[in-house]
Amino acid sequence: MTNYICATCGVQHAETDAPPEHCPICEDDRQYIGYKGQRWTSIPELQREYHNRIEEVAPNLTGIGTVPGFAIGQRALLVRTPNGNVLWDCISLLDVATVEAVRALGGISAIAVSHPHTVGSLVEWSHAFDHAPIYWHADNREWVMRPDSAFVFWEGETQRLMDGLTLIRCGGHFPGSDVLHWAQGAEGRGALLTGDTMQVAQDRRYVGFMYSYPNMIPLNQRAVEGIVNAVEPYAFDRIYGGWWDLIVQNDAKSALKRSAERYIKAIS
Ligand SMILES: [Zn+2]
Repeated sequence: MTNYICATCGVQHAETDAPPEHCPICEDDRQYIGYKGQRWTSIPELQREYHNRIEEVAPNLTGIGTVPGFAIGQRALLVRTPNGNVLWDCISLLDVATVEAVRALGGISAIAVSHPHTVGSLVEWSHAFDHAPIYWHADNREWVMRPDSAFVFWEGETQRLMDGLTLIRCGGHFPGSDVLHWAQGAEGRGALLTGDTMQVAQDRRYVGFMYSYPNMIPLNQRAVEGIVNAVEPYAFDRIYGGWWDLIVQNDAKSALKRSAERYIKAIS
C-alpha cells in the first residue's frame, strides 16, 4: 500500500495498492492534467531525486521548497513564535534532513493551508511532528485527498491559531481560500501569508485574484471585493505569496487596494 502523489499538483492521496485512476484536484477546472497524462509518484521515489531548500526568508520566517522544482513548485513557510511554530502551506517531499532541520527550528505545533492546491503531503508532515493539527477550512472539505484524524475543519470567517496568528477566510479561488495574518511579521507592522488567495504579481507591486490561475478564469467583482474586505480590519505591510520570490515587501495594504481597483476596471 502506498500513499501516491499526483505528479501534476503534488498532492498526496489516501493509501491504495495501485496508483489511483483519477486526481480530482487536477480534473477540476482550477487545475490541469500534465502534458504527459496522469502521472504518480511517492515520497520514497521523490527522495531519490529531490531535496528540500530550507532558508530564512525574514526573522522568524523560514521558507521550505523542493529542489529541483516539483509539481506546482510552491514553497511552504514556517512561522516561529514563542508559543509554537505554524507551518503555512506544505510541500510533497519530506525526508530525514528536513525533519531534523525543522526540529532544530522548534518543530511544528500546527499546520494551516491557504487552499487544496498547496498542501503536498501535509498528513505525512503532521505525523512526523507529533500529529500536529491541520487547520483546513470546512468549505474546502471535499478536497481532502488523504483523510486523517489530524484535520481540524474550522468554520466561519476567522480562526485564531495562537498569539498574533489568525486565519482569515477570503474565498474567491476556493470558497474556503484563506490567508494567515501574522501580527509580528514585517518587523511588527504585520504580514499576510497568502498562497494564491492573493497571487503576488511578477512585478511584486500588485496582486491578482483568479478562480483558475493555470486555466485563466478570472473572479468577478464581488469576489475580489470580498477578499479585500476580509483583510481590511488587519494591519499589514507585507504580503508573502506562495512562491519563493513573490513578496510585496512594503505598503502591501495599499498594493492590495490598487490591485483590486485595477482588476475590477479590467473585468468591467
Ligand atoms: Zn491554486
